[in-house]
Amino acid sequence: MEFWVGSFEYGILLGSFLNAPIGFFAYKKECLEKEAIIVAFFVSLIVFLAAFVFWVLLIAFFISSSALTKWRGKRKKEVAEKFEKTGKRDKYQVIANGFAATLMAAFFLVTDSSCFVLGYLATISTVTGDTWATEIGVFSKEDPRWILNLKKKVSKGTSGGISLLGTIAAFTASLFIFSTYFLVDFFVKRSSSVSFPENAIFSIFIVIIIGFFGVMIDSFLGAIIQGYYECKKCKVKTEKRVHCGEKTILIRGKEWFNNDIVNLSSSMIVVFLAVVFSPFLL
Ligand SMILES: [Zn+2]
Repeated sequence: MEFWVGSFEYGILLGSFLNAPIGFFAYKKECLEKEAIIVAFFVSLIVFLAAFVFWVLLIAFFISSSALTKWRGKRKKEVAEKFEKTGKRDKYQVIANGFAATLMAAFFLVTDSSCFVLGYLATISTVTGDTWATEIGVFSKEDPRWILNLKKKVSKGTSGGISLLGTIAAFTASLFIFSTYFLVDFFVKRSSSVSFPENAIFSIFIVIIIGFFGVMIDSFLGAIIQGYYECKKCKVKTEKRVHCGEKTILIRGKEWFNNDIVNLSSSMIVVFLAVVFSPFLL
């Protein structure tokens, strides 16, 4: 195991020093709940130890997603009725979005194998794409379409619903991750332990596409297995288990398959695909 920062101790020290102000910012801006900040701190520390470029991508995901969540927050309130969780992210959301990335970073740290770099890029691109699609997609003027039948329209915020705006947002997120990777790789090559062959641009582009595909898998899982409920009182359809102070009724999917499990599953599928296809890409 080699540390790009030199030693494990120095890595922990420098990583903590860099992560602390971001954690403080997340606390002040109410982006994350307290326990979520602790989980996120450890996630970013492992990621930082693995490679500097990994850490920059994680921070790029976190800052862009938090900013989009805050953006025009009031207009989102009507759609917030439907989402299981909104605003401040809890520890389960951090684990759901960060588990696959942490796993890839840890594997890369131990094995130094480039296939885990591809896995890392794929999952970061999926979770960023999913968040961007959700936060920007709600502003779509048209109602989203049902991913299992694109001719059918569903109301905004329905899991499994996709809009053109949301899809473009997810694709843009992939490009954002792609360009951030190359910028960092270009400027701080020597401080990062990640090295790819000369023709890696194509490989990485494919991985970004896998990441974008992950956002589609996410919507797909949202449509077929995620638990979806109806409020007995106001008849609103929602991901929430309780609405108008009463327990909602399950109308489709599995009760245990919530939005966090959807995110965790789609990021794990994407990581698996990227690693499996890596021999053809590297
Ligand atoms: Zn209700």
